[in-house]
Amino acid sequence: MGLLVLGLLIGLVTGQVSWALFVITAVYLVWHLHNLYKLDQWLQGKRAGIPDTIEGAWANVYYHLNRLQQRNRRRKKKLASMVNRFRESTNALPDAAVVLDVHGNIENWNMSAASLLNLRKQDAHQPITNLIRHPDFIQYLNRNDFSSSLQMPSSFQEGVYLSIRIVPYGNKQRLLMVRDITRLHKLEQMRQDFIANVSHELRTPLTVILGYLESMLEEEEGWVKENEGSIKAMLQQSMRMQNIVTDLLLLSRLETEGSTYKKQNVDVPAMLKMIKEDGEVLSNGRHTLQIDTDPELWLRASGEELISVFSNLIYNAVKYTPEGGHIYIRWFADEQGAHFEVEDTGVGIAPQHIPRLTERFYRVDVGRSRATGGTGLGLAIVKHVLGRHSAVLEIDSEIDKGSTFRCVFPTNLILEREVA
Ligand code: ADP
Repeated sequence: MGLLVLGLLIGLVTGQVSWALFVITAVYLVWHLHNLYKLDQWLQGKRAGIPDTIEGAWANVYYHLNRLQQRNRRRKKKLASMVNRFRESTNALPDAAVVLDVHGNIENWNMSAASLLNLRKQDAHQPITNLIRHPDFIQYLNRNDFSSSLQMPSSFQEGVYLSIRIVPYGNKQRLLMVRDITRLHKLEQMRQDFIANVSHELRTPLTVILGYLESMLEEEEGWVKENEGSIKAMLQQSMRMQNIVTDLLLLSRLETEGSTYKKQNVDVPAMLKMIKEDGEVLSNGRHTLQIDTDPELWLRASGEELISVFSNLIYNAVKYTPEGGHIYIRWFADEQGAHFEVEDTGVGIAPQHIPRLTERFYRVDVGRSRATGGTGLGLAIVKHVLGRHSAVLEIDSEIDKGSTFRCVFPTNLILEREVA
């Protein structure tokens, strides 16, 4: 404003008002441009501190910008220290953590990941599948269900066993957590070997005991005749022990073989007919057994293992159904796969027991299980065999009304057969 008045005065004195105003405006513009240039330099960090020569409106602009910058610097420092603390804590984690982006590329990782997965700087932004190439891992990564973890041998260190888990978060990002479970794996193997060895060692003495007891019972007179009851009880208990040993051996075989089994063309309807007849022998006329099967529905599976699944479930239905009860056996296919169903009108199972039935030696009623010659291992075997065949076990039950045990086999196991 002052400059404008000065220009006007000079103009009036010299008689060149418009020229004077023009010159004054040009000076004013140059001054602003000069200040703008200085501000630009200052913002680029080429000048330290607020220049002393700044006056007027520009001083205000500098003051506010300076405050803003200081505030930003403080915030940046705080953030950096937070990131550092977070990085230190993730580095202190004994488990490996790798951040994957939407495309499955490696974004970031902690120190344990560097040592456990052999990650180096140049691995950043590479697909994780370039690093972990195990087919089980690729299958796990492409699956959308990460509720369970994957266990596999390390490709970087021999003898090391890893447990891998993916945790989805944010916008389709994934966190890969890897844990060294070598010790646990060794212990598990020792447990498996121990059970397999003990069961194997018990087999021979048991066979001898059973043999002697059976031949003793053939004696017609003397001490044996007087103690027939005790000898029969011994024989019965030894047979039970033999069944436990057989089941334990089968379970350890299933465990050690993992998911590989001998694939055969299995005529399931014929198999079920045979097991139903055995079930009738076990029932001894106390129940009615009905069967309804699709004669064309065959599976590509392990025949021996299927026999053990179907017989365990059918015999259980007989064992846990009081006299006069009914048992229905069904075998059919729908879009979900092939279904094997055993429905009984037996004692039923309370809901709290159902999730635990497939645990080894878990029995709802120990007395009844023993009385019927149960080993407590039948449903554990069923679960293992079904797992190996990618099939699932479903259990519906109501106490005092009955139970339905259902196995659902995936459609890819159904045998394509040419119908003549
Ligand atoms: P077990 O040799 O004792 O029969 P399983 O593993 O076959 O062992 O079964 C575990 C438990 O599940 C049994 O002890 C029994 O309590 C229960 N169970 C299994 N099948 C049936 C059924 N059809 N009805 C009622 N209870 C059952």
